[in-house]
Amino acid sequence: MRVTVLAGGFGGSKFISGVRSAIGPDDEISVIANTADDLWIFGVRVSPDLDTIMYTLGGGIDPERGWGRTDETWNAKDELAAYGEPQAWFGLGDRDLATHLVRTARLRDGRTLSEVTAELCERWQPGVRLLPMTDDEVETHIVTTVDGREEVIHFQEFWIKHRAAVPVLGVELHGIEAASPTPEVLAAIDEADVVLLAPSNPIVSIGPIVAVPGMRDALAAARAPIVGVSPIIGGAAVRGMADQLLDGLGIETSASAVARHLGARVDGGLLDGWLVDTQDAREVEPIESARIAARSVPLFMNDAATTQQLAVDAIAFATELRARR
Ligand code: GDP
Ligand code: CA
Repeated sequence: MRVTVLAGGFGGSKFISGVRSAIGPDDEISVIANTADDLWIFGVRVSPDLDTIMYTLGGGIDPERGWGRTDETWNAKDELAAYGEPQAWFGLGDRDLATHLVRTARLRDGRTLSEVTAELCERWQPGVRLLPMTDDEVETHIVTTVDGREEVIHFQEFWIKHRAAVPVLGVELHGIEAASPTPEVLAAIDEADVVLLAPSNPIVSIGPIVAVPGMRDALAAARAPIVGVSPIIGGAAVRGMADQLLDGLGIETSASAVARHLGARVDGGLLDGWLVDTQDAREVEPIESARIAARSVPLFMNDAATTQQLAVDAIAFATELRARR
């Protein structure tokens, strides 16, 4: 079995670990990761979601923070602050910095982000094929007001510097028109037996992936069923800022509204199936009226066992939908 997962960082990496523990030794996982959180800062290229997935699956993540390295120190960040660097709000750990330095050096040598990611993964051995959604630079920006003035700021500035406490007036994906999916990404979709959307942020993680020109056509043409897992449980994002973004874009924060936003595949959208939490069981019917098959199962990834069970449920649901197609 070939499983392809579309994923952001935190929810994505947890879910992928579940999938990895749920499949057999001959099965393969390809991960198509969001790279629109990426940024240039202090001359280095940072790829937050790729690194969160790589560190989590490779055993190097700080489990409390959910990003960055274990046993991290912050000397470089403190020194930057001591110089009065205005961008010292960005969380650059000393260990993490080494990853960004290797990535940047290779990119400067003309290697693609896909090539660099494969090289970094030789160290971390994540047990999946970790694929950036594109080798082109795409960056999510948030249209907001800061001190009463309209500004367009990088997503990281919105999230880390402003802690998502400024209004969301819009989301822009800079560079998206000129971006294309990599051949590896297209093959991972084409050759998949099952395509899963991790419970990742629908606007800034799944959104940019499916906005890469050509990605929606590839997904529409896939022979695999496409099943998504709701990141919204009981009308709230489990963690992060998905609710602020959904609010700002006029989308209700509910499992069914996110399903409708992603759309039914039979109507030109993305989803054959959508998993909601047991506490959202009453949303199954309205989702099915929108021509997306739906089931309610426990969606909280509290520990390895619940996370694995969620992956088992998602694959079983997809397998059932494949038989129906
Ligand atoms: P990011 O790139 O680090 O923001 O991470 P993702 O986009 O991959 O995941 C963020 C999303 O994960 C948030 O919108 C949360 O609602 C969702 N999430 C976090 N923990 C859980 C969980 O235990 N279960 C489910 N279903 N979603 C979760
Ligand atoms: Ca992210």
